[in-house]
Amino acid sequence: MKFIVEHLSKNSGRLGQLVQQETGKQFKTPLLVQTTKGGSIPYLSREVFDSVTPECQVLQMSLATMDHMKEALGQYKGSGGGLSEYVGYKDYPTILTIRDPCELMPSGSNDKDMVPLFTRRGKETLTPQKYIELVETFKPDIYQGLSDADTNFDSAKKRIQKSVDRTESFMYFCYEQHKQSQMLSKSCLFTPIVGGYNTYNRSQSIKHAKEYGSGKYGGFIFEGFHNYGLTATEVTSEQLVPIMSHCLKELSEEKQQPLMLPGAFTPLVMLELIQLGVDIFDTSYAYCAAVNFKALSFSFKMNGDSVGDCEGGNVPETPFIDVTDECLKEDFRPLLKDCSCVACENHTRAYIHHLYKTSELLGPILLMIHNLHHLMEFFKSIHECISSDTLDNLIKLLRHQGGDKVVEYRIVANTKVISRAGLGKGFADSKS
Ligand SMILES: [Zn+2]
Repeated sequence: MKFIVEHLSKNSGRLGQLVQQETGKQFKTPLLVQTTKGGSIPYLSREVFDSVTPECQVLQMSLATMDHMKEALGQYKGSGGGLSEYVGYKDYPTILTIRDPCELMPSGSNDKDMVPLFTRRGKETLTPQKYIELVETFKPDIYQGLSDADTNFDSAKKRIQKSVDRTESFMYFCYEQHKQSQMLSKSCLFTPIVGGYNTYNRSQSIKHAKEYGSGKYGGFIFEGFHNYGLTATEVTSEQLVPIMSHCLKELSEEKQQPLMLPGAFTPLVMLELIQLGVDIFDTSYAYCAAVNFKALSFSFKMNGDSVGDCEGGNVPETPFIDVTDECLKEDFRPLLKDCSCVACENHTRAYIHHLYKTSELLGPILLMIHNLHHLMEFFKSIHECISSDTLDNLIKLLRHQGGDKVVEYRIVANTKVISRAGLGKGFADSKS
């Protein structure tokens, strides 16, 4: 993959293209990569996903949901399409990450020689050797370097220092292997930058990448700001913008490299990061909202009106419609008035509420369709704002949604969900 910066705005971040060199396919940045679980878009078949977007997408795959595919993939020949063909998305470019951005990564279990990998089958361990072997089997278009990313806003100094030191020692190995491996010759390495919210530690991580990785990596992935899952939605701009500004200053001579921040950051935080110059995000926020019974309803159209309320016409206090809300029982409007997604074109809020009540699998399917559509339209709007250098206006709109209060985008686990085991099976076992 190759990255080209196309437009640098004064106050609105940058526009670029991520280009798949073999096919010439281009993907506009800021880019929303599609988060997958086990190689599939959560809840959606390929046909349904095609109805959300017929355009080729970059898929984000995580080892946490795919490591057990190694043997089958090693044997698989197909028509030469490799990983993306195996999961039914032939020719879609892939980004391989270690963690699943949709799920909470438990703290602890780190060691100087290995990284814990939390899978559905329990905890596995990744040594640098094992990790590179897995990447060689998967042969993704882009993969991240091995990192200890177990830090967040509350991490102690010692834990942060350890995450940096261990990531450095893993990366010596990764850089060396990346250079030598024939099998990785077509894969692009995103070097991990860790160090929690500490400027000294982030600088140290960046310095190491520049000294030992220069010429080997083709981008940066920033981790260690949260523990994935809903914790990413708790990260605020006030926490993240200062430390990311610091990092971007240190990387100022690396401007031609794409920057990725994985995790379910809120739309408002994504915007502020984009303003700083971050290029790649994922769709885990859409998933986290859907499994907590929320339809995204925040407004991003400069002259449009939003509809997150029950009565209609009022300024919404939340950027979501909570489909568990009893007030939707006889609400025969679509989730969003002007939304052109399949869920909104064919179904009412009352029906989707009913699907929740009856634990039907169609419930989360419709919410995923709508939320993905909404987030992708939001990114189109971002592209327009960057080219006209008006991202500030969009940030203002997202922050207040036309009202006086600052809108809360954080996703709180829906307390009506009583069983974690119910997730992944539609709304089954999830009712109060
Ligand atoms: Zn919709």
